[in-house]
Amino acid sequence: MNAEILTVGTELLLGQIVDTNAAFVAERLAEAGIDVYCKTTVGDNAARIEAALRQALGRAQVVLCTGGLGPTEDDLTRDVVAAVTGRPLRLDPAVLAQIQARFARRGIPMPKSNERQAQVPEGAEVLENPRGTAPGLLLRLPPDRTVILVPGVPAEMRPMVTEMVLPRLREAYGLRGRIRSRVLRTVGVSESRVNELLGDLWEERNPTIALLARSGEIHVRITAKAETEEELARLLDAREAQVRERLGDILFGRDEEGLEVVVGRLLTERGLTLAVAESCTGGLLAHRITNVPGSSAYFERGAVTYSNRAKTALLGVPDELIAAKGAVSAEVAAAMAEGMRERAGTDLAVAVTGIAGPGGGTAEKPVGLTYVALAHASGVEAHEFRFFTDRDLNKQRAAQTALDLVRRHLLGLPPPSLR
Ligand code: ATP
Ligand code: MG
Repeated sequence: MNAEILTVGTELLLGQIVDTNAAFVAERLAEAGIDVYCKTTVGDNAARIEAALRQALGRAQVVLCTGGLGPTEDDLTRDVVAAVTGRPLRLDPAVLAQIQARFARRGIPMPKSNERQAQVPEGAEVLENPRGTAPGLLLRLPPDRTVILVPGVPAEMRPMVTEMVLPRLREAYGLRGRIRSRVLRTVGVSESRVNELLGDLWEERNPTIALLARSGEIHVRITAKAETEEELARLLDAREAQVRERLGDILFGRDEEGLEVVVGRLLTERGLTLAVAESCTGGLLAHRITNVPGSSAYFERGAVTYSNRAKTALLGVPDELIAAKGAVSAEVAAAMAEGMRERAGTDLAVAVTGIAGPGGGTAEKPVGLTYVALAHASGVEAHEFRFFTDRDLNKQRAAQTALDLVRRHLLGLPPPSLR
């Protein structure tokens, strides 16, 4: 059983957008045990979509196309598929009613051009799209071939593929094996250190483990293969327990659980509040904290005190201290955290000051030098870190480390140290 992916869109060929749809679909198909031998990208051009589709149908049982289902002139996929498969388009009144209802809910009249999206090739199954106007289409071509059309917009395409397309392919082709991954996230350690800690687990098969480096984190991906969901869960749980035991407190979360989510949960559980004072991160820390729904329960305020004057005016950091120690110093970081905690009246306040680069470094205080401080009920602590030379990465690292300092404090662990 093998499949091909056909992504349609001129933007993809111009390099204006990255083909994340193909990557997503490829991963899902692999998880379902379907081999993908070829993927093709063509522009919004009927002749080239047709040629690519004919070729794909000549090689594969399943062809999954993304993009070109919209209401505009350059959305051609539906028409080409109808022509190539010899299934004439018919207006589907139920689909039309759904599209009309969608516009009615937003209080705007449906443009005439959207009627095209209610055109369905004869015999095709309509895959409902609750997140957009264009439904997906699934066409079975006896004896054993299937053409699937899904929208180009990733937020519409992804759930449609996972929830509607894959179950149908499994059923139609009697696929039993499934592959599932789980990601365990670590912070504050190098890839080689994680590699070392995992030790003997590298020898194990099903589930296997793999390492991925992601902005300031090292992820351990556990991948299992089984015939049932229950068996998958059992295999993943068992391996996860082993990985957790080996990694200890550097492991902070699973799958979509970022550090800001974990910190939010810990604060909520303990009924504690947090404020932040940021210099080099320029608001990134507050941004990440407030990305979490419900953060208003524990996040009181944040201040971007970029200049020395702001550190004094908003946080009460003494002029003399800045003059004597420099804005990037353990002493100023501590004073920022204390000043913020006092003013915000929170249980915790975290402060960040550093030299993000690329300029501004000296022999004594090189680019990447960053201090992160935490003020709490029993005092204040400041820690020094030496990051890299890239400005963006340094901001990310600094925010990440500040969050990890809070996490570790809440769990009663020693502060982060880069290992
Ligand atoms: P629409 O109804 O919005 O026109 P569509 O099915 O016609 O949807 P396209 O017009 O091809 O889809 O793409 C819509 C948007 O979806 C693109 O501008 C792009 O942002 C995103 N997109 C399309 N194809 C891909 C892809 N292969 N990878 C990532 N993003 C994509
Ligand atoms: Mg379009």
